[in-house]
Amino acid sequence: MNTEILLPTEQAFRLAKTYIEAGEAVAFHTETVYGLGADARSDSAVRHIFELKGRPSDNPLIVHVHRDYDISTLIDGEPAYAAPLRRAFLPGPLTMVYPSAGKVSRFVSCGLDTLAIRVPASSAAQGFLRAVNAPIAAPSANLSKHVSPVTAKHVYEDFGGKIPLIIDGGACDGGIESTVLDCTGEIPVILRAGLISREQIAAVAGDCGVYRAKAGEKPKSPGMMYKHYAPRCRTAYFHREELQTAIALYHEEERAGGAPCILCEHALLGALQGCRALDLGDTDREMAQRLYVLLRRAETDATLLIGIAPTLRGGAMTGVLNRFQRAFGGTDEA
Ligand code: AMP
Ligand code: MG
Repeated sequence: MNTEILLPTEQAFRLAKTYIEAGEAVAFHTETVYGLGADARSDSAVRHIFELKGRPSDNPLIVHVHRDYDISTLIDGEPAYAAPLRRAFLPGPLTMVYPSAGKVSRFVSCGLDTLAIRVPASSAAQGFLRAVNAPIAAPSANLSKHVSPVTAKHVYEDFGGKIPLIIDGGACDGGIESTVLDCTGEIPVILRAGLISREQIAAVAGDCGVYRAKAGEKPKSPGMMYKHYAPRCRTAYFHREELQTAIALYHEEERAGGAPCILCEHALLGALQGCRALDLGDTDREMAQRLYVLLRRAETDATLLIGIAPTLRGGAMTGVLNRFQRAFGGTDEA
């Protein structure tokens, strides 16, 4: 199959609509990462997405709709705090999980009685969703476990020849996935940290919890249980205090004829003289924007990527640290 990469024009949106109506999957730009979308109402289209990605069948998908789509047709009621949250943050990088009305394919939520809905802000995503005017199930447009894509080229690397169209809206500003928020209980609860922080949500909803899976309990957001975001080179993970050990490992790899590389926050670069280092930046937004770009870059030219966990906290850092640790196989403590 030939994979076309088209700029987000009305013509591209019309073409995307014909593919979606034919049960195909289309990749599209959003403000977080690129999505791989298919008609959420079609069993075969949704199963096609799982097959393309090699995604475990118990990891549910987020449904994407345009800003004027009437989501009350997809959900079975909602708590009082949901509407103020939508007004404050949508369109934007917040996915809200509601009781499902069962109007989309049962494969979307993998047997859960809830439905995750997102209204992306990017004009490319809005144009595509408006043209299709249907709920679009869309996970990130990467092969399962691989680093999420933040450019059309990244999508092509994983799905070139396997999907008909990528809508190229340029690099994603946000850089990490949306915050996933459970809106089925008394207070909203974060299932996956992202660009919108707990503090921002609590400021609107009055309170906001953070979900932690208990041992032996079926997880509320199964996708969070998998090793994820992994670059295709060897990796090693260190804390800031272990800098000298990280540098020693770097030189050992170099002596063995490998091509090591260090990924760390900007403030640490001065301490890494003589080492090749990739600069994550200074702020939470910069680190979110650069993380996947740099993980994808490292896997093309490094034999060993050494990650030194950022020390910055607050804002999007909970989400950044969560991805950072999981990319390096570190523990998920953020
Ligand atoms: P991805 O689209 O690949 O970034 O992953 C979607 C994320 O949303 C995963 O972590 C899922 O577990 C989560 N998710 C999707 N639908 C639901 C749902 N109905 N309830 C809880 N989490 C969900
Ligand atoms: Mg994903």
